[in-house]
Amino acid sequence: MEFCECGGMLIPSGSSSVCRNCGKKTNKKVDVRITTKKEQENIVVIEDNKPDLPKTNKECKKCKNNVAYYWLIQTRSADEPPTQFFKCTKCKHTWREYK
Ligand SMILES: [Zn+2]
Ligand SMILES: [Zn+2]
Repeated sequence: MEFCECGGMLIPSGSSSVCRNCGKKTNKKVDVRITTKKEQENIVVIEDNKPDLPKTNKECKKCKNNVAYYWLIQTRSADEPPTQFFKCTKCKHTWREYK
């Protein structure tokens, strides 16, 4: 990744690049694909009608119910452990835990 002298990130603009911060053009060729990083930290809400979620004994912090649905979601890169989600069977409170 290339940066402008002002510290802004350079984005490709034709054969040259333009600073995202100050708008200055440079001849530096950058090969950056601008990806909008999705907010991956959001809790994934499973719809209520999702069938066949396994249940486990887990205490809900809200209603003290002892049974929760659980599922795993790979939220980060593949070499990181998946995040475990729980959903209270009673009050539908959803939370997550890192392994
Ligand atoms: Zn700049
Ligand atoms: Zn609950």
